[in-house]
Amino acid sequence: RHFCARITELNPVYNAFITVNEAAALTAAAAADERLAKGDAAALTGIPLAHKDIFCTQGLRTSCGSKMLDNFVPPYSATVIERFQGAGTVNLGKTNLDEFAMGSSNENSYYGPVKNPWDTKTVPGGSSGGSAAAVAAMMAPAATGTDTGGSIRQPAAFCGITGLKPTYGRVSRLGMVAYASSLDQGGPMAHTAEDCAILLNAMAGHDPLDSTSANVATEDYTAGLEKPLNGLRIGLPRQFFGDGLDAATGECINAALQELERQGATLVDITLPHSELTIPAYYIIAPAEASTNLSRFDGVRYGHRCESPQDLHDLYTRTREEGFGDEVKRRILVGTYALSAGYYDAYYKKAQQARRLIHGDFMTAFEQVDVIVGPTTPGPAFALGAKTDDPVAMYLEDVYTLAVNLAGLPGMSVPAGLVHGKPVGMQLIGPHFAESRLLNVAHRFQ
Ligand code: GLN
Repeated sequence: RHFCARITELNPVYNAFITVNEAAALTAAAAADERLAKGDAAALTGIPLAHKDIFCTQGLRTSCGSKMLDNFVPPYSATVIERFQGAGTVNLGKTNLDEFAMGSSNENSYYGPVKNPWDTKTVPGGSSGGSAAAVAAMMAPAATGTDTGGSIRQPAAFCGITGLKPTYGRVSRLGMVAYASSLDQGGPMAHTAEDCAILLNAMAGHDPLDSTSANVATEDYTAGLEKPLNGLRIGLPRQFFGDGLDAATGECINAALQELERQGATLVDITLPHSELTIPAYYIIAPAEASTNLSRFDGVRYGHRCESPQDLHDLYTRTREEGFGDEVKRRILVGTYALSAGYYDAYYKKAQQARRLIHGDFMTAFEQVDVIVGPTTPGPAFALGAKTDDPVAMYLEDVYTLAVNLAGLPGMSVPAGLVHGKPVGMQLIGPHFAESRLLNVAHRFQ
């Protein structure tokens, strides 16, 4: 009731939720109370959560922030949603996002932009901006997000919360509407590393229904939180602290690093020599995969369908013209072009080769260090509208987050401090399946 009341009061201001699930949430909460009274509670019985509106929820609209899916009520739930249900959580509603998770500011949503609760003139980040704002404004104690190129970490940084993008394959993608299938990964967004660990315990694990889900044993992610940091080697990639990083943000990260050093960690200068390839490689690979994933929205099977089509071609073109927003169309055009005969070798194949080099940089770095640390973003949250007319300026916001997805690594953003009253995030990157190590560092730091 507390969170439902806050959503009713604050959602008109922040626009963090697309769909509020109040009646069903209160019924589920009452059932949780009964289970608790009987002493029959599961791990998270009665804990309310908000879910990014990209996770399919059976019987509850899943829009993906798009007109295309404005009327879509899924016939089944994502594995992540089912696992949370099994653990006893209550679904407060579905949070706003950039259309099909394409964006870095939440301004690409069909349902309008989300406002950053720290300063409503600024963006909350994206694409999981609704989840980040909902948690920051305490409209939900925690939320789910997805991260294809930074969409958990960047909004977490802009909204002063903690977000974890797990190793690719750690969390099932079944029922998570696909953007770029080789990069997408769901994860928790919460106030603390401990809350993220508790949520990851429920989310992580092999799913036989997702062929890219990793068949690697999970662990209790809360078990190692208190471990001292003595002897931990932290790598500082020089490419993350150079030109392009806002000076005050850099100082804030340096102060956070000193705290880690005080706790016993050693700081080591490292290099990720192919860093400059990450933005071009990502912005070929992600649109290429998106262009094929989004071909399913054709007006035939589900979602938006144009009025009285003349023939099949008219049905496809008008449905897609009406159903998709500008950024989604831009990605489909770029992706289709990059995959087309004659251009495939020059763009897509090249981008995959660059991806391999980026992956190699991390593998070399992790021979010397245990964790890599840097800023999550080049600066704090920017003003609403500041970059909407300049897609390239928007893409540059992702400069520190994209490589993690290209290499399939786990990454976290942790609040590092405030710059001119706005939160700044410190990014932690670990080797594959080292989520516990990241959570440990984040927890000791917080
Ligand atoms: N900003 C990046 C993009 O627009 C990443 C988005 C994401 O992680 N879903 O593609």
